[in-house]
Amino acid sequence: MARITSPQCKQCRREGKKLFLKGERCYSVKCGIARRAYAPGQHGQDRRMRVSEYCMQLREKQKLKRIYGLMEKQFRKYYDEATRMKGNTGSLLVVTLERRLDNVIYRTGLGSSRRLARQLVNHGHFKVNGTRVNIPSFMVKEGDVITVKKETSTYFKNVRETLGGGQIPSWINFDEKKLEVKINAMPSEKEAELDVNINQVVEYYSKI
Ligand code: SF4
Repeated sequence: MARITSPQCKQCRREGKKLFLKGERCYSVKCGIARRAYAPGQHGQDRRMRVSEYCMQLREKQKLKRIYGLMEKQFRKYYDEATRMKGNTGSLLVVTLERRLDNVIYRTGLGSSRRLARQLVNHGHFKVNGTRVNIPSFMVKEGDVITVKKETSTYFKNVRETLGGGQIPSWINFDEKKLEVKINAMPSEKEAELDVNINQVVEYYSKI
């Protein structure tokens, strides 16, 4: 399976913004953007040229794709699905991305980054409605209940101590004692709180 190999901090520096790809490190002084707030590469510190409209749209698309840690093919597939649905394509795209199982795990804080959450899902640590699911792109729906397969494992024992710090969106109900997640409703674009211009992402794809 293809995977993204580019260093995460390099991705943030390329976009000139924190994309929060590394969990706790992103909030520390070790953050790549805090230490080197310029684009990577030999000409990273050169004065930026005027950017075209197309370039801005491309960068917004890249940002969104990188936040969710997706490859182009899968991201495009989500966009195409969103265009086939009724409603605002940009909002529907965000809703689809938010519904991924790895994102739900990240939103609860059980994984400090989406990459870690994906690894946990891949390793079969979660059950959805009682059935083990190890597919990070699994789409949750209203009423689904996600449980941890083995709460007594060292990882989950330790992670309990870190829970409760972050804001969990209202569409997710998380019982920290039981480590049980219930999907209350469908996600919303507003609650995703993405620092990305979704309209530009849609415009980018509508042209190519
Ligand atoms: Fe981005 Fe996090 Fe690296 Fe900072 S530490 S540059 S936010 S991935």
